[in-house]
Amino acid sequence: MIAPLTPSVPLTSLDQLWIQVSGTVCNLRCSHCFISCSPDNHSFWFMTREQVRGALEESLGMNVKEYYFTGGEPFMNREIEGILEDTLAYGPATVLTNATLFPRRRVEELRRIQAESPYPLELRVSVDGPSAEINDPIRGDGTFERAMEGVGHLVASGFRPIITTMQSWPCDEMACMLQAFRDALGTVGYDEPRLKVLPPLLIGEEAKRSRPYRSSERVTHEMLHGYDLDQLLCTRARLVTAAGVYACPILLDYPGARLADTLTEAVRMRAPLGESACYTCYENGAICSNATTGTGDSGVASPCGDVAPTASTCGEGAVSTCG
Ligand code: SF4
Ligand code: SF4
Repeated sequence: MIAPLTPSVPLTSLDQLWIQVSGTVCNLRCSHCFISCSPDNHSFWFMTREQVRGALEESLGMNVKEYYFTGGEPFMNREIEGILEDTLAYGPATVLTNATLFPRRRVEELRRIQAESPYPLELRVSVDGPSAEINDPIRGDGTFERAMEGVGHLVASGFRPIITTMQSWPCDEMACMLQAFRDALGTVGYDEPRLKVLPPLLIGEEAKRSRPYRSSERVTHEMLHGYDLDQLLCTRARLVTAAGVYACPILLDYPGARLADTLTEAVRMRAPLGESACYTCYENGAICSNATTGTGDSGVASPCGDVAPTASTCGEGAVSTCG
């Protein structure tokens, strides 16, 4: 039951079905993780291949356009390759990953799965800075090098992963940072990379690392007047977990966002916008999707809007000039 004063939105179409395939279990312990995943966070457990098959079958006839796999780290799930094979018979799939568990043989297996599937497989790799100096304090020692190695294997295998990064710098440094990303990714053979910059979500670990939301940062009924609700992921998606179906992949830790036991029930339910994280969605649009609003002429999705493709002021070694 949604509290009367809480704004809520209906699902208009189930374009995206998100699957919390590794629960809250991750091999990393990032200091900005908005659902506080870690090797010992077992609040949500892995989904089995059978459970995912059940969700896929249940989604038949719901006109799902894309399936997204998230966690935790999806490649911690020992059944992930089989799960992806199953999913790619239903539609396109995207896996959100930290790319630190990508030995060459696993990437070759992903390539084989893609080659034998009728739909595309996308990998979205999270890296939180264009250097170890910027990334590793957030994601852990050695993670930049491991992720870049994983990206190199993916690129060598023919994938063009979407590199996703949380914005931890001011907008006036954005062009320099993006150039630094391009330079760094070029060293592992990834030219003209696909980049996506996300705003921080001030919940979970990120609320401790930077700050929690202010009490004024809430979505109100008034704010929704004239607002394009399609901007909000919860009007176009649901999240299936091992313990019920949620409004979206952001609010896993919020019992109010658990809509129902089954997908069939959850698509009929309105999503409550009662949490502060909804304010970030309201301001930035569908931040979780592969394609987002805010994509400028540069082809980079960024909370700062349009960003020049190259920064003439960055010069050699762009990272150092970004402060
Ligand atoms: S941000 Fe991603 S990689 Fe880091 S702990 Fe959370 S789920 Fe794992
Ligand atoms: S966090 Fe975003 S996607 Fe989730 S319910 Fe709130 S507005 Fe919708």
